[in-house]
Amino acid sequence: MIIVSFSNLNLIASSDRKEIKDFTSFFLTNCMETYLKSKETYYIHIEICSKLNGEKGRCEVESEETKRGKYKDYLISIKKSKKIINLLETLGHELTHVRQYMSGQLNFGKDVHHSIWDGKSYDERKLSYWMSPWEIEAYGMEKCVYELWIQNKK
Ligand SMILES: [Zn+2]
Repeated sequence: MIIVSFSNLNLIASSDRKEIKDFTSFFLTNCMETYLKSKETYYIHIEICSKLNGEKGRCEVESEETKRGKYKDYLISIKKSKKIINLLETLGHELTHVRQYMSGQLNFGKDVHHSIWDGKSYDERKLSYWMSPWEIEAYGMEKCVYELWIQNKK
């Protein structure tokens, strides 16, 4: 099961709030079905932010064992935008990172500079952001799921 919550939706247009919720359900149903049906409970909180340090979006993972358990708690921050496509593509991108952590495909490495992808350790000081496998997947997914969602609405 996945429990999704939202905050600061008042920062975006009211018509966009519904789209954000629809798109989130669409992503979960189409791309995260395993976790939706799981007996485990996962939490994803999605917040809209006025400022985000120059970033469009961010995905934070509760990496330590908490009362909810390891890799059960996620915080997605989305920078506010007047363009719904920006909001939804960024949301799709960050939800992809959540899926990568849930599945264990992406994991924390031995220190802040390292990440593990498919069991292999990557040093992010030596790896271009644009060449990291988790970003390549997330940038692909943000376009693909958005297009799929648009087609599905017709
Ligand atoms: Zn990313």
